[in-house]
Amino acid sequence: MTTTPSPAPVHAPMNQFATDGNQLLIGGMPLSRLAERIGQTPFYAYDRQLIAARVAELRAALPGEIKLHYAMKANPMPALVGFMAGLVDGIDVASGGELKVALDAGTSPHEISFAGPGKREGELRQAVAAGILINIESFREVELLTRISRELALPARVAVRVNPDFELKGSGMKMGGGPKQFGVDTEQVPELLALIGRQGLAFEGFHLFAGSQNLKAESICEAQQKSYQLALQLAAHAPSPVRFLNLGGGFGIPYFPGEQRLDLAPIGNNLQQLAERARTDFPGASLVIELGRYLVGEAGIYVAQVVDRKVSRGQTYLVIDGGLNHHLSASGNFGQVIRKNYPVAIGNKLCHAADESVSVVGPLCTPLDILADRMRLPTTEAGDLFVIFQSGAYGASASPQAFLGHPPVVEALV
Ligand SMILES: *Cc1c(COP(=O)(O)O)cnc(C)c1O
Repeated sequence: MTTTPSPAPVHAPMNQFATDGNQLLIGGMPLSRLAERIGQTPFYAYDRQLIAARVAELRAALPGEIKLHYAMKANPMPALVGFMAGLVDGIDVASGGELKVALDAGTSPHEISFAGPGKREGELRQAVAAGILINIESFREVELLTRISRELALPARVAVRVNPDFELKGSGMKMGGGPKQFGVDTEQVPELLALIGRQGLAFEGFHLFAGSQNLKAESICEAQQKSYQLALQLAAHAPSPVRFLNLGGGFGIPYFPGEQRLDLAPIGNNLQQLAERARTDFPGASLVIELGRYLVGEAGIYVAQVVDRKVSRGQTYLVIDGGLNHHLSASGNFGQVIRKNYPVAIGNKLCHAADESVSVVGPLCTPLDILADRMRLPTTEAGDLFVIFQSGAYGASASPQAFLGHPPVVEALV
């Protein structure tokens, strides 16, 4: 008897970008020409059309009542945040610096919310003065906001970020359940709500964020159901009706071999059901989901050029002009447990056969600076453009650009 070996897992096809012969097209422009237009490598390029298409796809799959927020820490490039501001229903910020970018982008303060542990007093003052919604994550924040509200004669708009007693199963990064630095534990929320009521802060709702980078629709639906149920229980302790219920996000994108794109249909059905229940449970309230990576991750690429080629004991290395200093995630050092290869290509040789096995490394003096480990690629020569897909989120701003003093990366919205 023979057994057929199961096929090796492969990357999901990176077919979100159009192509023209050998050239990848970004915003309709051939990659080689775009590189000339930008005038240097390495660079990140983000495709407006793909971002808009992703938002439209979500709107079509989700019920109309669901408000879609952009969590801008995924990609805080000001031009991109400005573009997103015109597409989504709100922007979620995680610092005073991000708040400035969101306001500069023209986002209405009513549509901005602020989450994050360790909000400094200065940041809370900025937030109250701006009139945005603050997701409270500790008793200290209530005390500070009470004083700031009095000093500025503006009642702080607040929601309670809950650290739930469950987590988002199968998520790449867990941000709720068990002991966490985020939010306030479910058990302590009634006491916190009572304090908010006594201090006269403007209570507006709940924020529950269980985790990130999830590709399993069932797990996301389960977390949404549990979040909703928990908010319903906690609402009994609230000083005033819930106006915003933020059910989190966590929608993932495929990065590694064997991963498939998320199926939105079951999530749409689940949210439809919750939106219907909310009409009686939380009359007049907005149901919000907040997404970062899912909105922008697939629309971005990182592009670098080969500086050197060398063979070391039988292994071919391509050394490119940027590495983990620009793209920490692709090197495997931003939350991955085991390093795996991102999908890559030679963006001006798409029709060439992948005729050699190479390791692509950055210019830094550390063995961690690997961008592709023994992958099959077309043979490259000077001027060829090495592309890393799935690079629109947690790229430039999530990388240690000062490390080793190489030039910073350029970002372009195309
Ligand atoms: C990071 C973060 C997000 C965005 O996560 P993605 O995986 O990029 O969608 C959303 N909400 C909160 C509270 C976060 O901390």
